[in-house]
Amino acid sequence: MRCNTVHALLDLHLEQQLPEELAQQIERHLMRCAACAFEARTLEQTRNLLRAAIPPVAPSPSFRERAAARLQDALVPHLHPRLEQADTRQWRLPLLPED
Ligand SMILES: [Zn+2]
Repeated sequence: MRCNTVHALLDLHLEQQLPEELAQQIERHLMRCAACAFEARTLEQTRNLLRAAIPPVAPSPSFRERAAARLQDALVPHLHPRLEQADTRQWRLPLLPED
């Protein structure tokens, strides 16, 4: 996994919203990449400060839908590289819990 991929997924990783396979790839990268590990620590500290300062707001259902669709498009090439050319709209990733 490359640094720019880790960078793009770090926020979701800290939210524990990524599939296990992807989360493990990121963890392995963080163990051997000081720059990304530093970014992860900084982001986590910032998130903790924000969480303490600002009450959480639930996203609207349409926001969650749009975000899930965009995330799915972004993740398919990483999870299924050989299917990159195929019709990816058939893939449904269990990224967000149904509620
Ligand atoms: Zn890195």
